[in-house]
Amino acid sequence: PGVVNKIAAGEIIVAPVHALKELIENAVDAGSTSLEILVKEGGLKLLQITDNGCGIQRDDLSLLCERHTTSKITTFEDLTSISTYGFRGEALASISHIAHLTVTTKTKDSSVAWRAHYLDGELAPPKPGQPAEPRAVAGRPGTQITVEDLFYNVPARRRAFRSPADEFNKIIDMVGRYAIHSKGVGFTCKKAGESSNSLAIQAQATVNDRIRQIYGSSVANELIDLHSSDDRWGFKADGLVTNANFNIKKTTLLLFINHRSVESSVIKKAIEQTYLSYLPKGGHPFVYLSLEIDPARVDVNVHPTKREVHFLNEDEIVEAICKDIETKLAAVDT
Ligand code: ADP
Ligand code: MG
Repeated sequence: PGVVNKIAAGEIIVAPVHALKELIENAVDAGSTSLEILVKEGGLKLLQITDNGCGIQRDDLSLLCERHTTSKITTFEDLTSISTYGFRGEALASISHIAHLTVTTKTKDSSVAWRAHYLDGELAPPKPGQPAEPRAVAGRPGTQITVEDLFYNVPARRRAFRSPADEFNKIIDMVGRYAIHSKGVGFTCKKAGESSNSLAIQAQATVNDRIRQIYGSSVANELIDLHSSDDRWGFKADGLVTNANFNIKKTTLLLFINHRSVESSVIKKAIEQTYLSYLPKGGHPFVYLSLEIDPARVDVNVHPTKREVHFLNEDEIVEAICKDIETKLAAVDT
């Protein structure tokens, strides 16, 4: 079973950024308004995320890394009405099979914070010979998750990472995506040992401010609002896209479905097609799109990594979104 778990974990988390994405989603799900992220060696040595969310109760810590442990589904019926993808309870379990995981957490009702270490899905002693139990420490309300030595027991995968700088770039890109999408939440991301943050977004910053800070004024100054919805297909789409004055070499698509950053080559191709007649010289847009779809209609099990997503009435929904883009591109004087 150990080997099976390790392989399963390696399928979900193939790079540090995938672990961090799960940790960001958990922190946002916990109602946090502040996320502080610390990264060492592209996340391979250390990934640490500190939030100010609801925290985890001490009694829940022993089962935290058991597969399918989740606070986000209480009955089977919830499976069809859940609003996040995070119902599977696999992320922390997976991480504990391929890294050293430490959780420090405090709920607002607790007088102390609790710290627990995990290995292969179970509570582990802080040091050999000590009891494998959470211990009381000083701390603030919220949760700090520390992931150390990712892939320490998967040497082939560990060796595949030639450049910590590349991994850090993927991390910063992902943090930026969630920072743009997560209204009311402040983000910082820093490399260990550096004095300044690589990214810092205030909780009160508007979406436009966030895009300006991360992608620059050249993008932020050219944005138009998107909105479309249709009850027949059970969707609502909101977003910001650049107008025909703007032109980059490669499409930047920040796509969220039900508040999860995902990939959809179908949506990407359709949007690029829509821009063709407006950006005739082969230019490309910047697109931030938040799509809410009845969760029962989203296929999240295409692949365990949950990155490329499909949904019912995909053609109709994509057509409606592109029609909205087209109408708004046509209305802007360029
Ligand atoms: P899922 O998100 O699918 O429920 P995870 O393995 O990602 O599964 O997390 C397991 C559970 O741990 C969550 O359901 C939640 O109860 C708790 N949890 C994880 N991270 C946090 C956090 N930052 N703050 C509060 N609770 C958390
Ligand atoms: Mg999760």
